[in-house]
Amino acid sequence: MDLLNTLVDKGLRRELPTREEALAVLATSDDDLLDVVAAAGKVRRKWFGRRVKLNYLVNLKSGLCPEDCSYCSQRLGSTAGILKYTWLKPDEASRAAAAGLAGGAKRVCLVASGRGPTDRDVDRVSETIKAIKDGNEGVEVCACLGLLSDGQAERLREAGADAYNHNLNTSESTYGEITTTHTYADRVDTVNKAHAAGLSACSGLIAGMGESDEDLVDVVYALRELDPDSVPVNFLIPFEGTPLAKEWNLTPQRCLRILAMVRFVCPDVEVRIAGGREVHLRTLQPLALHLANSIFLGDYLTSEGQAGKADLEMIADAGFEVEGAGQVTLPEHRVAAGGGCGSHASAGCGSEEGAGCGSHESARCGSHADGGVCGTAAPAPTPGTEASAPAGEPRTDLVAVRRRGAGTDLAPNA
Ligand code: SF4
Repeated sequence: MDLLNTLVDKGLRRELPTREEALAVLATSDDDLLDVVAAAGKVRRKWFGRRVKLNYLVNLKSGLCPEDCSYCSQRLGSTAGILKYTWLKPDEASRAAAAGLAGGAKRVCLVASGRGPTDRDVDRVSETIKAIKDGNEGVEVCACLGLLSDGQAERLREAGADAYNHNLNTSESTYGEITTTHTYADRVDTVNKAHAAGLSACSGLIAGMGESDEDLVDVVYALRELDPDSVPVNFLIPFEGTPLAKEWNLTPQRCLRILAMVRFVCPDVEVRIAGGREVHLRTLQPLALHLANSIFLGDYLTSEGQAGKADLEMIADAGFEVEGAGQVTLPEHRVAAGGGCGSHASAGCGSEEGAGCGSHESARCGSHADGGVCGTAAPAPTPGTEASAPAGEPRTDLVAVRRRGAGTDLAPNA
């Protein structure tokens, strides 16, 4: 297919596809799905080989949020039966992080519900970062605490944070339909603050909230413009007790097309499959490894993931390898440009549940239009082979509220 050849060539050159090309990926048919995966897989292998980076979430503070993000089980008014607790102590968070690191993770993502941290909260998280770094040489730490005030990103950087996550989540034009208590511009501001402080920026999206293909392309192009080092792609987990509980819009095939589109638009960025992986990709998860180079190990913020052992087996069975602590995640040119924790400059967290905070939950990428508009027009789908309607069956049977790990007496999943 001319479209895919063009997108592979652009991805290998880090050239921005046209919006029409990105939209055409989302409109491909199920008959073309493996061709799409193979094409985006070439771009993924060019920049990240067969490595899969494992990240581990520690929910430092769960629920009780005053914000109203509709996708989030921790939102104001949520009746989802999630764990609710206030700040974990540094030693408690450090123990949870150690379980993930022992399971193979190289990055710990410290997430807290809420609009944004107070200065006292930044102190607490700084103590936690130090506790984790003192006990685990080479670990990357990403903080995800919501909207940042002036100076807070710098303080987190001084405390040893490598990265900061804050997702855009959806397009600017639909943001107000998802959240009313803060704005899209607030989110952009926080990503820029993280960048300016020398933190590796991590920012991504949530798919499956009823958005159009144009919205998805808008948010991914906005992310490329912000130039984060990592882009978490969340697939909405429609929690009972939240306004989006009935939004079961995704199919495994749709999720793969979305991940392929993100890879073509952000070719050399860490693309992470975040919340909703198990719920929406289901048995097609291994195919998604050809598109994304990063996943979360174990559980999410408020929901349970598949067993950490199953994650590791899936990676090995699919012919990929877990990225080691000594390996640099990002391509050399990004590290040279000051991005990425690759080692240790920084690099990013980001997830959530398909839902969220600070973005976090929904669970939870930059650039440079090189100008390269190749103008290859997106071909119209052949009649009768249009992409299957983006509607999925409710799979509430696959949604389990997290009852182990941080904030409980039970061992974490890692
Ligand atoms: S996404 Fe973050 S800010 Fe929004 S309701 Fe959830 S915890 Fe609060």
